[in-house]
Amino acid sequence: MREVRVRVLHSPLVTPLEVQAALKAPRRFADFGVVYDHMPVDEPKALVQVRNGRRIRDLVTSSNPEVYWNGLPGEILGLFRRREIFAIGLTASRITERTDDDYTPRKKPLIGFATDNEGAVLSIFGIREYFGIARGQMMEYREHCASALALRAIEIAASHELGHIFGQGSHCGQTTCIMQENRDLKDFIERFVMTSVDFCTSCRSIINRRMNELLH
Ligand SMILES: [Zn+2]
Ligand SMILES: [Zn+2]
Repeated sequence: MREVRVRVLHSPLVTPLEVQAALKAPRRFADFGVVYDHMPVDEPKALVQVRNGRRIRDLVTSSNPEVYWNGLPGEILGLFRRREIFAIGLTASRITERTDDDYTPRKKPLIGFATDNEGAVLSIFGIREYFGIARGQMMEYREHCASALALRAIEIAASHELGHIFGQGSHCGQTTCIMQENRDLKDFIERFVMTSVDFCTSCRSIINRRMNELLH
């Protein structure tokens, strides 16, 4: 791979400010050699060369996206066609995780999910709701007192999912690491968004190793 490209694929219901916030995530990976862009998911060219592009598009455009714990299946690649772009889908709908155990399906809302080396999807539904940002208030989004935190939440959540795409398959035990586990949205906002988090040294080296594999 000549370069590692990340594309933010967003639904039409996500605002430009929210897209810009998500783009700060791949910008954090610029040191690792990542380049990035963004496209509306319904743009005809948007899925060209994108890993799991159709699956991500289907989740982003669904009004009720649902995923299983195993997230994105590994794509069966065409023999001569390498899909070189990693995507983060950005949806304004709530994503739920379906876990079937003891014949009782439970649905758990998710901020996002990612599969190592495959892609990710992020929902801004809960973040908007948490900060009291309704669709009708989008005009004032920039001035909204909670908007800075909401946008930071999108950036941090997208960064966390990118960490999963680029080799950190599990969660980190370091309390200031962006790859820590969160229990739910409230926990995520309080421990990740209201405080200072970044990739710790060990997560950084995991990501570095993956980048070297991808680039050579
Ligand atoms: Zn995670
Ligand atoms: Zn870490």
